[in-house]
Amino acid sequence: MTTATAASSIPATVAAARGRFEAGVTRPLPERVRRLRALRALLVENGPALADALFADLRKNTAEAYLTEIDVTVAEINHTLRHLRRWARPRRGPVSLALAPGRARLLSEPLGVVLVIAPWNYPLQLLLSPLVGVLAAGNTAVLKPSELAPATSSLIARLVPRYLGDGTVQVVQGGVPETTELLTQRFDHIVFTGSGTVGRVVLRAAAEHLTPVTLELGGKSPVWFDDDANIAAVARRLAWAKFTNAGQTCVAPDYVMTTPDRVPALVAALRDAIGELWGTDPRASEHYGRIVNDRQFDRLVGYLGGGEVAVGGGHDRAERYLAPTVLILPAGDAPVVGPDAAHPVLREEIFGPVLPILPVASARQAVDVVTAWDKPLALYVFSASPRTRRLFEQHTSSGAVVHDAALVHVAATGLPFGGVGPSGMGAYHGQYSWRTFSHLKPVLRKPLRPDTLRLAQPPFRETGVRL
Ligand code: NAD
Repeated sequence: MTTATAASSIPATVAAARGRFEAGVTRPLPERVRRLRALRALLVENGPALADALFADLRKNTAEAYLTEIDVTVAEINHTLRHLRRWARPRRGPVSLALAPGRARLLSEPLGVVLVIAPWNYPLQLLLSPLVGVLAAGNTAVLKPSELAPATSSLIARLVPRYLGDGTVQVVQGGVPETTELLTQRFDHIVFTGSGTVGRVVLRAAAEHLTPVTLELGGKSPVWFDDDANIAAVARRLAWAKFTNAGQTCVAPDYVMTTPDRVPALVAALRDAIGELWGTDPRASEHYGRIVNDRQFDRLVGYLGGGEVAVGGGHDRAERYLAPTVLILPAGDAPVVGPDAAHPVLREEIFGPVLPILPVASARQAVDVVTAWDKPLALYVFSASPRTRRLFEQHTSSGAVVHDAALVHVAATGLPFGGVGPSGMGAYHGQYSWRTFSHLKPVLRKPLRPDTLRLAQPPFRETGVRL
């Protein structure tokens, strides 16, 4: 259990972060660099303790914890430290002829106090990776880790004051009551990662204070497969992307579409790939995770009746183990994904180790399936045909498109990461975090002499002025 922060202390916690911002301590560039280095030290010096906490919360394997939580955040810090001075440099802004003579610069300024609300599935990365951009841009922060990853949450609450101990980064622990109280406070930006349902709660609360928000939400990320020549390699990448963290990844492949004739070969290749990665009994593998809680476990097991279990299906509630599972869904004339789908597994984001294969007539029909419902967070295409790749790029909308791989775009620090429509608003990572957490302020100087503005002031001459 997380030790929740007393709700009555939350206003003072936020006020402390605001006080530090207003005192200007996070603004100077050397201070931003110092804080980023301190955050990196927190991660590097406490790697084993953080990995233990992630194991306690999600039975995350240590190597996976480094790869997907600790190292990826350190990489984000290193990338930011490498480029920060360039991003922060004031740039000359263009001044139109109508305002000549005049000069403009573009200054980046911090927004103020940023609230970061994180989910439980990557409880470290999704809390601290946004913080990198928040600190780089010169803001102070209030962090709200997930109460469903209590070991990670309480370790972060202990470590942050040790490494960033001047009150510029505050941690509030807890669940719905504490987050509800937090959301009554005024922030200058909120970054929320989690479900669309809670995203709406955050957006409504933010509207009260006209606070801008970045919403990193979820959805059903589809896969298209027709690359027969490379089926073993594709299946391995797919299995890895889907079953890492026991499928509890926002950008995990949610369902695979392919033509009916390809289904048997794909299932066989996925079975082999799962065996290669986690052995014939994934339950005994130290590299395979567990479902976060009983509620999620019951929901996921409920999907197994919704199709033919072709691979896996084994489960044990006592340890919340659900095997990497592949479900074959019957082919229909007009397959539907969304609330009206025939199969429960196609009605909502799966967020667990169940991979349905949905037979469709063609890539064109797969495009229709995708576009008929919410824009997904990611779309993955495994096709050797440039035409098919272009078809998906140009006729669907999603947070990102990845060809021949899945998941990996999260680690591309130079690319914006975010959703579109119901999968999210705004983006972060690298320079996009910098832009998200800074205000780009134009500073214009129009000298008093020569007084060309006189031409724009009445009394107007016959000829008038046109800008
Ligand atoms: P969630 O929305 O239940 O919780 C996220 C955060 O909101 C937690 O810190 C929680 O304490 C808080 N919260 C929960 N209910 C609340 C309420 N009523 N009022 C105020 N705060 C509340 O999400 P989750 O279960 O932790 O994560 C799973 C979801 O997150 C999935 O939909 C997944 O796709 C999405 N996700 C998205 C990304 C991304 O980067 N886009 C990454 C990971 C997870």
